[in-house]
Amino acid sequence: MSRPCDLMSKSLLAKSPYMTSDARGLIKLDAMENPYSWPGSLERQWLESLSGIELNRYPDPLAKELIAILRSTQAIPENAGCLLGNGSDELIQMLIMAVRGSGRPIVAPAPSFVMYEVLARMLDVEFIPVPLATDFDLDVSLFDQVLNEKNPSILFVAHPNNPTGLCYTDTSLERLVAANPGITVIDEAYAPFTDRSWLHRVGEYPNLMVMRTLSKLGLAGLRLGYLVGTPDWIDALERLRLPYNINSLTQHSASFALQHKEIIDSQAKSILLEREQLAGELRTCAVVEHVYISEANFLLFRVRDGQADAIFQELRRQGVLIKNVSTQGKLLADCLRVTIGTPEENAFFLQILQEFTVPDCD
Ligand SMILES: *Cc1c(COP(=O)(O)O)cnc(C)c1O
Repeated sequence: MSRPCDLMSKSLLAKSPYMTSDARGLIKLDAMENPYSWPGSLERQWLESLSGIELNRYPDPLAKELIAILRSTQAIPENAGCLLGNGSDELIQMLIMAVRGSGRPIVAPAPSFVMYEVLARMLDVEFIPVPLATDFDLDVSLFDQVLNEKNPSILFVAHPNNPTGLCYTDTSLERLVAANPGITVIDEAYAPFTDRSWLHRVGEYPNLMVMRTLSKLGLAGLRLGYLVGTPDWIDALERLRLPYNINSLTQHSASFALQHKEIIDSQAKSILLEREQLAGELRTCAVVEHVYISEANFLLFRVRDGQADAIFQELRRQGVLIKNVSTQGKLLADCLRVTIGTPEENAFFLQILQEFTVPDCD
């Protein structure tokens, strides 16, 4: 009888399964979730509308209604194609599966969203991280060199970037897209929190795609991402999509939510205001050395030398979970990332930071 080690590759068995922290009972400021729920009347309307769904039937394999609503509410260019995924994660997986036979590597700035690397490795595709500059901006000449020498199949650029919150100049991005022989995917997961977008530029470059998700605007539980690109690329990628990858409840609930876009938009606006306020207040904390400019729903901040673990643990002890990105080292040494919560959650987080004292060594 075969055991896992007989049939699965060593490199696959050497990986650890992707884990997230246990957040039970904690204030969750670690995963860029929207902290707000819907007004009671809207929630009741949504629940009532769900009763019409026939769970004994398969979902619409093409999710026609949802795609139509996405097209009309999200300014998807008319002549572009649109592919849906069970979260952006599934779209990243489909993209990598599509190109893995080419033998060409996947490239992304580092640090950036971890799933590009996790999924490339899961599918046994080489992943090449290209270090950002010390201010977390793109090192365009280094990219030119890597794109030239490594001939990647896909370049993923999270924009704004996670975990930094930074956007890049259009000139830098234009240079990357033009220099990249493969596909460039601009991952706009944080589009609700910035004016910067490349969605309208799909079609301007034959190898440019823009990916978005509903996760950061309050619908992380639905798992819905979409990829916009030229029709020839999107039609080709359709071949990798499982027929019913978007379930009935998600198709229906996402359509419902997008039809009440004003709620989503006003929540995003509150988060933006809170972000600016929290950034200002964080800058006054003695233990905080630097707060990075963010165009997303989180803030990356650098703390006093060697204090990141202690601050992370103290927050956790007092019931607040953030993300300790300092464990990734290199450019992220001494850095922590906090998701913008409700005003009350942010105030509680801030108070713990203000009261945190660095052990005195002198
Ligand atoms: C959070 C995030 C996503 C979201 O992935 P989903 O699978 O859609 O929840 C995608 N890209 C980036 C850069 C993110 O930070």
